[in-house]
Amino acid sequence: MGVSRFSRRFHGAYNVRTRNPPIPCFQRRLLSGSNSKINGGDSVLPVLIVGAGPVGLVLSILLTKLGVKCAVLEKNKALSKHPQAHFINNRSMEVFRKINGLADEIMRSQPPVEFWRKFIYCTSLIGPILSSVDQMQPQDFDRIVSPVSVAHLSQYKLTRLLIKQLENIGFRIESEELSPDVVRLEEHEVLMGHECTSINTNDHGVTVTASFFREGKYMEKDFRCDFLIGTDGAGSTVRKLMAIDMSGEKDLQKLISVHFMSQDLGQYLINERPGMLFFIFNTEAIGVLVAHDLKQGEFVLQVPFYPPQQKLEDFSFKMCERLIFKLVGRELADIDVMDVKPWVMHAEVAERFLSCNNRIILAGDAAHRFPPAGGFGMNTGIQDAHNLAWKLASVINGISPPSILSTYEMERSQIANFNTALSLQNFKAAMAVPAALGLDPAIANAVHKTINNTVGSILPSELQRAFLDGIFSIGRAQLSDSLLNENNPLGSRRLAKLRQIFEEGKSLQLQFPAEDLGFRYHKGALVSDGDSLSSAPETPTGRRRDYIPSTDPGSRLPHMNIRLLSKLSSRELFSTLDLVSSDNVEFLLVIAPIEESYVLARAAFKVAEELKVPLKVSVMWPEQTIEGISRSETALSPWKNIVDAVEVKRSPSSPSWWDLCRMTDRGAILVRPDEHIAWRAKSGTMNDPISELKKIFHVVLGLQSSYT
Ligand SMILES: Cc1cc2nc3c(=O)[nH]c(=O)nc-3n(C[C@H](O)[C@H](O)[C@H](O)COP(=O)(O)OP(=O)(O)OC[C@H]3O[C@@H](n4cnc5c(N)ncnc54)[C@H](O)[C@@H]3O)c2cc1C
Repeated sequence: MGVSRFSRRFHGAYNVRTRNPPIPCFQRRLLSGSNSKINGGDSVLPVLIVGAGPVGLVLSILLTKLGVKCAVLEKNKALSKHPQAHFINNRSMEVFRKINGLADEIMRSQPPVEFWRKFIYCTSLIGPILSSVDQMQPQDFDRIVSPVSVAHLSQYKLTRLLIKQLENIGFRIESEELSPDVVRLEEHEVLMGHECTSINTNDHGVTVTASFFREGKYMEKDFRCDFLIGTDGAGSTVRKLMAIDMSGEKDLQKLISVHFMSQDLGQYLINERPGMLFFIFNTEAIGVLVAHDLKQGEFVLQVPFYPPQQKLEDFSFKMCERLIFKLVGRELADIDVMDVKPWVMHAEVAERFLSCNNRIILAGDAAHRFPPAGGFGMNTGIQDAHNLAWKLASVINGISPPSILSTYEMERSQIANFNTALSLQNFKAAMAVPAALGLDPAIANAVHKTINNTVGSILPSELQRAFLDGIFSIGRAQLSDSLLNENNPLGSRRLAKLRQIFEEGKSLQLQFPAEDLGFRYHKGALVSDGDSLSSAPETPTGRRRDYIPSTDPGSRLPHMNIRLLSKLSSRELFSTLDLVSSDNVEFLLVIAPIEESYVLARAAFKVAEELKVPLKVSVMWPEQTIEGISRSETALSPWKNIVDAVEVKRSPSSPSWWDLCRMTDRGAILVRPDEHIAWRAKSGTMNDPISELKKIFHVVLGLQSSYT
């Protein structure tokens, strides 16, 4: 039995002191066992989620929709009010679209797009603009590739909407300080103020010990579950307890986030230069201002932080106000600093997402932590939850063995590694602008490292601080009007370099449609065909590229508008994505209304029935189809789970469904419950469709490891 010991620091965080190698069945603790321990009841939760951040909350909603009983443990007594993430990408919005109107609620709650579509580079908020880059393109609004658009909403506001969704589906948010004997963790509950500190596993399940403060002391309580999901953020306790290392680049940059309100500033920016991000460079200060909501005047300022010479105490609310005024270029009468938080930027992915025979699983920041450039952090986590939910549900419902969960790691670690590289490239692109102005952050970091490694060890701290400040103010002097102008040869070269970066679109990007909608799993719960095998995972370019619809196995099902043949007169439009159910672990087979495809669909129904996996067949009719024609029920009788859909082309010259999929109408597409393609047949003709489909379902459901 291996035991890791951790020490508790004064502010409540825990540090690893020693680490033992991972072992399959074990007990691991963060705290010494001196606290009083109470048993949390005899019931065993199918799924216990540790961490009520956006990823844990989305996972609990998705699992509940799929009929899986789960509960959430959260260490804080109240949910965070720090705005943090704000950009919700297209794929996350598609996931939210299927959570009882959540995407609509986000669209209603977010600021108007005109207020956040630009990134602005300037010397102060009232001073000259160096450049303004529009991050939206006309196609981002036309809903051709997706039924929803991207959105901009602060993470804490999204979290509130997620909590509301949970309450609507019967969850209780328990934040009362209940008497320790009364505390139970039952399904459909978010238990606040309880911190996971130790985990034990054996062949029968997992026991989580949670620590909580009551009656003047720390107490502990045990909770049992079949599966434990660690969605406990970048510093994940679950990950540390499992002794899972991260690989990648650590400590890229240390920053201070200053959350503040000022309607004065919000109104000024609405009138003069609305935008989402403001990169401000002047001789007195440098910072990135994130406008979370211009109308409400809600902002977060990010400034570089160089400890130990700089200390968190140096960023008092008063000092932050002064810093903000320097960046704005004037004082703000109504400034209200809410919170100051340090954070460290990493680009790392966990070496494993699974532990203890797949009973303990990491998702979200617990599994990967990226630079926020491009807003991939929370979005990647939400898509982890989407990938994991149906697989967990199929294990708990007895459709799949726990080995299917290995495909979660296979699929999601590939995407996490890709998104890490992409976020890093985008972060470096963001750094190109200050570098062109003579303020290369890499040089600043190198100088800081040198101070720490050389003079840092011998000089008193005040002198180190003065030395660092001196170097940085010399750096910022590069931005003085006398230097940065067209008449000064150096200034004019720098301004020309800056123009080149913006003209070539090489600054920080917000949108990546090719990666956001077009990410594709290359191996996992899918069967590749000859065509898709040849296309190896791409390397990220760091530049915006358009999404190209694809039905290569592992891709997301392309979106096209459709109508239902049974309700053609209603003119109501749906998306092909709506054909996939989000309320049960149901697979979807899309075919054309031709005899050989009906043969295939009948075989698929038979196999699915044998394997006890729900299947729906959707028959895609061409646009000219008229009401009253014989529908597919007769051809597919006795099976009933059939939807006749009619494609809706944008214009007569637009591609048909099968053209969009780069297939013919003799093909078929098998779609997983997370809308990713499990398998496709370019032609419906098969010698023995039943035995072929059996092999395919066996691989996709994790009943067999390869298609042979
Ligand atoms: C400045 C900044 C801007 C960003 N912008 C974007 C953006 O625009 N788009 C985007 O997609 N991402 C963005 N991100 C990243 C995003 O904020 C994170 O990826 C996101 O918060 C991850 O969500 P999570 O649920 O995995 O983890 P978290 O949000 O960190 O939630 C983890 C939860 O677990 C709880 N917890 C921790 N330990 C324990 C324990 N032992 N027991 C019980 N509970 C525990 C924590 O209290 C917390 O509530 C940004 C990040 C930063 C710093």
